Amino acid sequence: MQKTAYLQLHRICDQDCIFCAQPTNGKYLNFSEISDQIDYYILQWYTGIIFSGWEPTMSPYFFDTISYCREKNISMRILTNGHMLADADFARRSIDAWLSSYHISLHSHVETIHDAMVKKSWSYRRSLEAMTNILRLGWDLTINITINSYNVTYFPKMISFFLKNFPKIDGFIVNNLETSQITSTYFWVIADLQDIKKIIIPTLDLIVASWKEVRVERVPMCYMRWYEHLSVDVEYTILGDEKYLHYLDDTTTSGVLDSSTHSADYTYWSACKACDLKKICSGIVWIWTHYKESDLYTQKVSKDELDSIIFLSKKYLHRSY
Ligand code: SF4
Repeated sequence: MQKTAYLQLHRICDQDCIFCAQPTNGKYLNFSEISDQIDYYILQWYTGIIFSGWEPTMSPYFFDTISYCREKNISMRILTNGHMLADADFARRSIDAWLSSYHISLHSHVETIHDAMVKKSWSYRRSLEAMTNILRLGWDLTINITINSYNVTYFPKMISFFLKNFPKIDGFIVNNLETSQITSTYFWVIADLQDIKKIIIPTLDLIVASWKEVRVERVPMCYMRWYEHLSVDVEYTILGDEKYLHYLDDTTTSGVLDSSTHSADYTYWSACKACDLKKICSGIVWIWTHYKESDLYTQKVSKDELDSIIFLSKKYLHRSY
């Protein structure tokens, strides 16, 4: 079991992604509030912090924060667009403070498409410069890619591009979009589940054959048979992990995400009722808004097969964290 906290340092970002679930609202924590939050996690036996909001490297307290975490001996990971890390001195300073795990978000390997999605014409170039800096300095780099209507048709091609051009990356996080807070203007960015079904196995085949790490989020497990252990769902359902989500938002409450919240009744649909994977799959939320119940497929799984999925999950899932 792992306990990890997602900490938003502020809600300020230099991108304006069309599917952003929590857009810039100007809220921020000062350093005293940040250190209080970190102390609270330590008191509650959290062993890792993920800086996730909104662009953490833009916080004026960014370096003070990572130095504080280093002092407190708590592991750190960052989710970033990488723009600030395109500056080699900035990247080196963060690495000198022992920030050793970087997740850079990219939405396409086609520069014009990525830049159109984040509404900044220079974003792709700076993110790639950041990736080059991090890899040159020898630290862990994962690419986070959201599946969306722009990239879903060529997803495996995009993975091949990054594997070929950045062979030293650790791997990928492949996320279906968090749909609950996307405004109706941008519903069309949400990929069709049937399109996701077509690309998910070829994508995982490519990544696994390259001996890279991969985790898949918000993709129904019935689409990824034989790769169930790569679903983030098993962190909660099999490994009993706990994540604390800290929001800087008047409408979203901070709190713990665990198996009870991640696999709540409202995440399962008619096909899930008799599905043998329900024990380890968290289903999918708000299906009627964006998807159809007929997109899900009841699975029959033998006890041996289920045991083998559980074995693989325990063996591989925490390997890279
Ligand atoms: S529980 Fe539901 S979403 Fe999960 S694999 Fe079964 S049918 Fe698919």
